Amino acid sequence: AKEDPDLEIIRNRLSSSRVKNKILVLSGKGGVGKSTFASFLSLALSAQEDMPETGLLDVDICGPSIPHMLSVQGEEVRQSNSGWQPVAVNDNLSVMSVAFLLPGRDNAVAWRGVRKTSLIKQFLKDTDWGELDYLIFDTPPGTSDEHISLLQMLKGCNIDGAVIVTTPQEVSLLDVRKEINFCRMANTPIIGVVENMSGYVCPSCENCVNIFPPSTGGAQAMCTEMGVRFLGRVPLDPKLSAIVDKGKNPFEEARDSAAVKALNAIVHNL
Ligand code: ADP
Repeated sequence: AKEDPDLEIIRNRLSSSRVKNKILVLSGKGGVGKSTFASFLSLALSAQEDMPETGLLDVDICGPSIPHMLSVQGEEVRQSNSGWQPVAVNDNLSVMSVAFLLPGRDNAVAWRGVRKTSLIKQFLKDTDWGELDYLIFDTPPGTSDEHISLLQMLKGCNIDGAVIVTTPQEVSLLDVRKEINFCRMANTPIIGVVENMSGYVCPSCENCVNIFPPSTGGAQAMCTEMGVRFLGRVPLDPKLSAIVDKGKNPFEEARDSAAVKALNAIVHNL
């Protein structure tokens, strides 16, 4: 069968000479902190000393929350001859999100699979990133159709790897196991697994309480079992959610919180 010509356009847009490093952020389920991690990673990478050009592509069609987290909600994407222009968050970080194309902030995307898949393709094909040092993909959760199509469309694009975000509960880990196998099938290298919402550091006594005591040893044990790298734990931290939900930069505004310290350590060891 002849290859879909759009795939070649995508490969050109994302070729290593244009976009040097490409990292996917995945999760088995929604609500585990995938978008929080993706936005933190983008902010942290773009804040490095050499000011690398960084892009964040939010293809989480079911719940595109990146624009809110980065305080660029309601911005409009401009079309130019060379494609859609991503929205600037700061001097060297720009973002493109499905949310920019939705008419209202609370419009749920209740489209059928085919339409979602073609929107994702259009995103990959038409966004004009120019030259980037890093491109981070915030992906739809799980092994949904859109998720599968996304990985298929990115085949041959030299993806550096995927970071999988999970919570400690076995129900979340079950989906991560599927996700790991799925990445292996799709030849997407796995950078490692982050365990988010891993304990709660009490603000008054600083003791860490395990809110979701894992019955099976949590993400770390699963990583050993599956032969992937365990990247670390990020505690549940009210300071982080307050900052993130207000669209403030956690990297700057909650520097001394337990969660931001943990996130920083993880990002530096990727
Ligand atoms: P997902 O992208 O997996 O659906 P989000 O990143 O949108 O999940 O996170 C869901 C909610 O949980 C957000 O309100 C976010 O602020 C909050 N959250 C994520 N990680 C943490 C954490 N470590 N501590 C406190 N709140 C968190």
